[in-house]
Amino acid sequence: LSVVTNHILEHCRHKAPEQPRHVWFVCDILGIVCAAATWALVLSAAGVLLCALLLPTRDVAYGVAHGTLFHLLAFLALAAHARTMLTDPGSVPVDTEPSTPGGPRCPLCGAVQLARAQHCLVCGRCIRRMHHHCPWVNNCVGEDNRKYFLLFSLYTALAALHVLLLLCVPALRSYARGEWDRHGVPSPGGSLVFLFLVALKGFFLGSVSFAIQMHAICTDRNAIEQRQRERGRPGPGSAWMNWKAVFGHRLSSPHLLPLHAPGQ
Ligand SMILES: [Zn+2]
Ligand SMILES: [Zn+2]
Repeated sequence: LSVVTNHILEHCRHKAPEQPRHVWFVCDILGIVCAAATWALVLSAAGVLLCALLLPTRDVAYGVAHGTLFHLLAFLALAAHARTMLTDPGSVPVDTEPSTPGGPRCPLCGAVQLARAQHCLVCGRCIRRMHHHCPWVNNCVGEDNRKYFLLFSLYTALAALHVLLLLCVPALRSYARGEWDRHGVPSPGGSLVFLFLVALKGFFLGSVSFAIQMHAICTDRNAIEQRQRERGRPGPGSAWMNWKAVFGHRLSSPHLLPLHAPGQ
């Protein structure tokens, strides 16, 4: 049995990516499919919104303003998604020596065991402050990419909310004016129903994910620590200090773009 166990551990060590890596990409089929589906849903929603809702309108200013706003939010969401997926989430190097000779190492990847690192079976590496592995971004959410994941959740929820308002407000207005009689209820086309369902899903997942990440950042606890209840009090700093550790000490509007690395 020990021979088999050693063989499995040796295989996992070889599976772990080598250091240094300039481009981080997790080769997981499920994650790649989910990440591609995310892009396809956002791009198809943008196309349907443009063709079925904004281009047919007679109010040009209305179409241009809402088209610009949605495409800006969708672009920011996809940019944040790409940065979340292609950024090393905080992998612990596998070729460093522990501070004390013979110190503990991860049995799966061989990295030095750090206090707040967890091994991810999908990434095959130990990740600092690992929150969870998200197949929708095909990556772990950890210390070095949690800012991008938070921005991805935020812009997804905002873009989806924008679409929901564009669909629901005119319908509610016409209902309030009494334009819906018993025989003349307008039936939306299949493309608008698709757009509504995609927006509803995006708003639900984006807002829930944003709330969970905000709580994790402000309390400085990841999902595993929260489940294990190892720490009964908030992190070492205040919620504001924990926030600045992720978004930087000079908080300004450019920090809400997926450009700056966490803490800068
Ligand atoms: Zn490990
Ligand atoms: Zn992972």
